[in-house]
Amino acid sequence: MAERVGFIGLGAIGRPMAVHVARTFKTVVWNRTRVHAEKFAAVEGAAVAANPAALADEVDVVVTCLPTSTEVREVIESIAGAWREGQLLIDTTSGDPAASRALAQWLGGRGVGFVDAPVSGGTSGAEARSLTTMLGGEDRWVSRARPIVDTFAGKVVHVGPVGTGHALKALNQVLLAINIQAAGEALAALVKLGVSGQTALDVINASSGRSNVTENLIPQRVLTRAWPRTFRLALLDKDVGIALKVLQDSDVPSDATRVAKAVFAKGRKALGEEADHVELIKEIERAAGVEIT
Ligand code: NDP
Repeated sequence: MAERVGFIGLGAIGRPMAVHVARTFKTVVWNRTRVHAEKFAAVEGAAVAANPAALADEVDVVVTCLPTSTEVREVIESIAGAWREGQLLIDTTSGDPAASRALAQWLGGRGVGFVDAPVSGGTSGAEARSLTTMLGGEDRWVSRARPIVDTFAGKVVHVGPVGTGHALKALNQVLLAINIQAAGEALAALVKLGVSGQTALDVINASSGRSNVTENLIPQRVLTRAWPRTFRLALLDKDVGIALKVLQDSDVPSDATRVAKAVFAKGRKALGEEADHVELIKEIERAAGVEIT
């Protein structure tokens, strides 16, 4: 029998992911701000649950896409009585590995499986079904999660036990954060020296310093001055904080990550909770007294 899927969290990336789930599986959605769930259901033909417990009642598999592991834990534990043996929770939040291990244990005590399944590729990747998804969990639960994850992902990798998906995602995010900061600083200096942003990127993108930030994010968002809001800087700051904890818990040097944490926390304070991650470069431009164009 086909799985019935419940999707919790129709935010910037959750919504386009849920679209693909709803086109393949019988889907029930719940969102804290109900109007977003109702709008989704009207377009995508899913059902709306009155609350998370009602959602859990109706489905075999629950997918969460919430800001942090704290909200995941709050929602999941608030419906303690609704879980049934044999159900599965797939958490696509960019979460905290230690929190996920604790949650997996709590769910395991109820006979419920857990797979951490964070995603990379942004809202455009979610729309295009090309997200990279890293799965952490036991083989039997991962096998069950795959057909659901396959609806929105282009690449799916089982990376290890519970929590390793979340660890890998957080460490990937540090590389993104460091690239944004370093590229922003480099380009600000080059523009001040009389090299245009476009010329600098033409060279960097044919050289060893290129990255997704120089190849895509800066040309599309900074040079155009478009600054779209697709992934909140506050969430990247959260990710870097998780990565720092992972490094420290693993007794690995964390110098670069500590700098990134300080820079992104400062940027978050200056730019607010709704700013996009790439807007950190606005802070670099402001401090340098130059626009990267
Ligand atoms: P958003 O802030 O856009 O959406 C957050 C979602 O969580 C909304 O549906 C919101 O509901 C809900 N929510 C927030 N707080 C609570 C709460 N206390 N209880 C219940 N629901 C709550 O975040 P994104 O969709 O951008 O990100 C979700 C996750 O995906 C994050 O972990 C992020 O790091 C990760 N991610 C995001 C990417 C992106 O490009 N945006 C890329 C890769 C990963 P409401 O509508 O009521 O606000």
